[in-house]
Amino acid sequence: MRYPRKIYIVLAAIAALALFSRLARTRGEQPHTRAFFAMDTPVTLTAYGPLAPGALESTEKLIRRIENEISVTVSGSAVARLNAGEKIPSDGIAGRVLAAAFAMRQETDGAFDPTLYPALLLWGFTSGKHVVPSRGELDTALRLTGPEHIKRERGLYSLDHGSKIDLGGIGKGWASDAAVDCLRAHGVKSAIVNLGGNVRTLGFRPDGSKWRVGVRDPESGLLGVVTVGEGAVITSGNYERFFEKDGVRYWHILDPHTGEPARSGSVSVTVTGESGTLCDALSTALFVMGPEKGAKWLRSHPKYGAVILGENGTIFVTKNLAAALTLDGARSASDMRVIEP
Ligand code: AMP
Ligand code: MG
Repeated sequence: MRYPRKIYIVLAAIAALALFSRLARTRGEQPHTRAFFAMDTPVTLTAYGPLAPGALESTEKLIRRIENEISVTVSGSAVARLNAGEKIPSDGIAGRVLAAAFAMRQETDGAFDPTLYPALLLWGFTSGKHVVPSRGELDTALRLTGPEHIKRERGLYSLDHGSKIDLGGIGKGWASDAAVDCLRAHGVKSAIVNLGGNVRTLGFRPDGSKWRVGVRDPESGLLGVVTVGEGAVITSGNYERFFEKDGVRYWHILDPHTGEPARSGSVSVTVTGESGTLCDALSTALFVMGPEKGAKWLRSHPKYGAVILGENGTIFVTKNLAAALTLDGARSASDMRVIEP
């Protein structure tokens, strides 16, 4: 049986259109990535869609601008100027991160404390010249910490002489939120950014599925994978920055009460939630609190999820995250304890 030629032409046109739209779709789904070093950590930005390349370029610039404002080690940054005794505006980037940091200090009963820098300096974590300070030196440094040493007057922040701020425990989370806002403003609908273990997602993966974010295990490499939609997955661990002296390990997350590395029984804490800023501050704070106090805090703040790896290998996970966590083969489900609401 012969069909009129027109039908062949229409069929060929439909086939071409289908092929073209498939090609266009696949092209749109190609990940565009940008990897660089900033904020003292490797950064990877991945975005999908035709608008991704331009958006990624702007986002890298923004992250570098944020670093130049809030890094305590960049001379001339707003935080460095504040620490040197200058006044800085409360509505600039540093001022806004500072406000978020003090709000989280309040929320975590002081476990997160952005004024610990005088103590951190003594340990040499920022200079790389590691030393174990004496109790007397730490006590002197601790007298300069606490929210009473910062003033906000007429739109300006200032510090008491000798007091110093450090936004290292919240800044990368803040930058991850800003990165996602920037990508969204450029029309990107699907993206994932990772600033040294501070992961923030925009939308879902191009095929509509959730993101799979690996949680690091300091021993075997991977503790497990959490699947999330849009939000933040942020980890703090004592293996990230540390030194050893006379067989003792000292790390960069300090207990605000002692000025010493927080020995609370945690090895790492991963926090999930909507905001990278809050999850970043919280992962540091929960590390300081330790698994038991941390579990109590999490029970009264159900909008967050958390995975806490304890020193004895126990894995504490909040009920709301348990189904989204797949442990790596090297870890056994019998080590898992669910934090019930
Ligand atoms: P993170 O990796 O987010 O847990 O941040 C750790 C960094 O936060 C350290 O390198 C310090 O700069 C800073 N930091 C250490 N201890 C605390 C603390 N208790 N509260 C707030 N920031 C801290
Ligand atoms: Mg943090």
